[in-house]
Amino acid sequence: MDPHQLKEHLKFAAALGVAGTSRDPVWRARASDTEPELAVEPAAPPPAAVVFSRSSAEALLALREDIGDCTRCKLHTLGRSQVVFGVGNPEADLMFVGEAPGADEDIQGVPFVGRAGQLLTKIIEAIDLKREDVYIANVIKCRPPQNRNPEPDEIETCEPFLFRQVDIIKPKVIVALGKFAAQTLLRTLDPISRLRGRQFNYRGSILIPTFHPAYLLRNPSSKREVWEDMKLVKALLKPAQPS
Ligand code: URA
Repeated sequence: MDPHQLKEHLKFAAALGVAGTSRDPVWRARASDTEPELAVEPAAPPPAAVVFSRSSAEALLALREDIGDCTRCKLHTLGRSQVVFGVGNPEADLMFVGEAPGADEDIQGVPFVGRAGQLLTKIIEAIDLKREDVYIANVIKCRPPQNRNPEPDEIETCEPFLFRQVDIIKPKVIVALGKFAAQTLLRTLDPISRLRGRQFNYRGSILIPTFHPAYLLRNPSSKREVWEDMKLVKALLKPAQPS
């Protein structure tokens, strides 16, 4: 090896982390001197098509496009101005699910921005998170007239989009806000008073039902129970400590 070749060889070895050389025969033996030879399998042919996994953000965008300017149920004829899809971190560990957009949400196209939404923001901040950290959506994506309760055919038409949001985001914890969200997700008619205070396994997430912020505005004494629920949520979100 000429001196230039040797220099290049040593530079390359150093880049791979070789710190020096030794005259020790054990050290100098090559692996093939001391170890049985391994049969080399022929390399597998490359896959015909490379499968890319889409990011949650891309998948949510595709879902939003799929919903489009939805006319699947009667709500589009009953005065809603736009679809209110959902907002927040597509990779969130924590997802909140409410009932349906109200007047403010219908105008802004963003869930939970009215009075109940401001209270929800405070609830999120009370467990040391920001709205941008979590994902917020509703069972129904369009405002029912005069904020009436969603009707069964509207829930049936719209809920698959919520389920797809949950499956894309795969949050660790889902907080179902109020009776409609809890009953829809859990497929039960049990009242929220029976559901809250418990945790459920739901599509790979832990579901915590709690009172709706709009209910809390009318019944401030129930904030205590919601605080208990949120302390549990915070504990569930904490990464497991190494034992
Ligand atoms: N109530 C809800 O359930 N959802 C909203 O987005 C606003 C109020």
